[in-house]
Amino acid sequence: TERTLVLVKPDGFERGLTGEVLRRIEAKGYTLAQLQILTPDRERLAQHYAEHEGKPFYEPLLEFMSSGPVTAAVVEGDRCIEGFRSLAGATDPTKAAPGTIRGDLGRDWGPGVQKNIVHGSDSAESAEREIGIWFGGQGA
Ligand code: ATP
Repeated sequence: TERTLVLVKPDGFERGLTGEVLRRIEAKGYTLAQLQILTPDRERLAQHYAEHEGKPFYEPLLEFMSSGPVTAAVVEGDRCIEGFRSLAGATDPTKAAPGTIRGDLGRDWGPGVQKNIVHGSDSAESAEREIGIWFGGQGA
C-alpha cells in the first residue's frame, strides 16, 4: 500500500469544503490514517514549498497558505498518490475537469491559481518528505 499527504487549503476550509474533500477521499476507497487542523507557520510552509522558492508566486502562496486553517491528512491506499491527484484535477480550477475536486468545487478567485482547494503529493519521495513536515514526531 502507499500513502500520500493531502492538504485542504485555507480557501477550502473557509468555504466549508473540508468534509466534502474528505468524503471524496473515503468514497474512493482510501483510508484517513492521520488528520489534523492547524494554521501553518511560514517555516513549515517554506519547507513544504521549498521547490518553488524564488518563483513569482512563492511569497503570495506562503501568505495565502498561512492565512487560515488547513487540514492535513495522511491518506493510505494502493496507488493513492496518483489516485488523489486524479481526484484533485488540474492545478487551475478553471481548467480542471468536471468530476474532480477542483473542477467541481473551484473556480478562478484570483490571483493566479493559488486558491485551488487541495494539495496532494506528486511522488512517493514527496509524500514521505511532506508527511514528515506535517506529522513529524507523530508517527510520521
Ligand atoms: P499542489 O502541489 O498544491 O497539489 P500542483 O502540483 O498542481 O499543486 P504546483 O505547480 O506544485 O501545483 O504548485 C503548487 C501550488 O502553488 C499550486 O497548487 C497553487 O496553489 C500555487 N501555484 C502554482 N502556480 C501558480 C501561479 N502561477 N500563480 C499562483 N499560484 C500558483
